Amino acid sequence: MSGGGHLPQAAFANTCVEIAGTPDTYHWKSDAGNDLLLGYCPNCGSPIYKITSKLPVMLFVAVGLLNDHALFQSPHQAFAEGCQVWDAQGK
Ligand SMILES: [Zn+2]
Repeated sequence: MSGGGHLPQAAFANTCVEIAGTPDTYHWKSDAGNDLLLGYCPNCGSPIYKITSKLPVMLFVAVGLLNDHALFQSPHQAFAEGCQVWDAQGK
């Protein structure tokens, strides 16, 4: 996905995550050639999770969906060097 702001995600082993309902999905290839799949709400379009062929055992959940946001701390920012000026995090 490009052209949007950052999407905070928490990584979980995919065996530890259960998804209720049937999200819509969008597939694309990353610049590095990895397959990506985004699961999103079919009603409002909100991102729910992402899967990448680079780390197929992990599922990346949109942090906005967590019941307790205080549990999340961002130890790593991917692609921060390429972010838009209006989306710079901690700079
Ligand atoms: Zn929704």
